[in-house]
Amino acid sequence: MATHKAAGPTCKILDDNITKLTCPLDNGRHQGNIKHDLGDLDRLPLELQSDILVRLDLQTLTDFRRVNRKAMDNVDALPEYKAILLHNKNSLRAIFSVELGRFITCNELYITLQTKICERCGESAEFIYLLTCRRVCATCLCRRIEYCPITIEDAERRFQVPCHPIQKLPAMRSLPGPFGPIGKTCLHCYTLIDSSLAFLVGATNRAGRRPACSAVPGPAMPLSKSREMEVPTVDRHMFDGRYMSVVQAHRIETPGMVSE
Ligand SMILES: [Zn+2]
Repeated sequence: MATHKAAGPTCKILDDNITKLTCPLDNGRHQGNIKHDLGDLDRLPLELQSDILVRLDLQTLTDFRRVNRKAMDNVDALPEYKAILLHNKNSLRAIFSVELGRFITCNELYITLQTKICERCGESAEFIYLLTCRRVCATCLCRRIEYCPITIEDAERRFQVPCHPIQKLPAMRSLPGPFGPIGKTCLHCYTLIDSSLAFLVGATNRAGRRPACSAVPGPAMPLSKSREMEVPTVDRHMFDGRYMSVVQAHRIETPGMVSE
């Protein structure tokens, strides 16, 4: 069970709602020899192939890995991929479980896992906020409104974001299950986006429609006003997207040093 002092010992997050059974990974299960090559890709030096692969988003990398045994071996040999699997397999499970694999590259996750401090306050941080793939501490997670994802419908209404640009933002599909300090069970799945990104898209959209001077966020724009305020305990949807969108993640010190 994931715990943190700011939310209490029973606080449930994404980790508590994914298991090896609900999101199995096939790494290490395949036997056999290489029977097929990778065609023109094999003409590239292995270093260049690795440089390309590590920049792929995790879903594309996984799809490529399934092409054949050679592709699987090449992906499995990536130092960044190996380190993620060795130290933080659960972060991969979490990303695939909430359908964020298209929005996070292998290298991006690896770099974030190497960090140890909260992006907001600089204190030691044990969570990864998946919608932006950044480290966050328990205190900032609980108190800062930017870690409260919102639904697309909410974003359209609050930030005057048109449907088209908002659908290009990284979006996650929440899992049903118990979340938050009291472990309240949420039976619905929500499509959630980062509220700060939605705000920026809305501001950009307004700036395109109005003179530049009037594009500055005013008091009617709730996120800009309340960015430093504490979030309410329970929002009007009766679910708390913060706990649905974070995973506990150990820091990767040096590849090969620590095992999960
Ligand atoms: Zn913090």
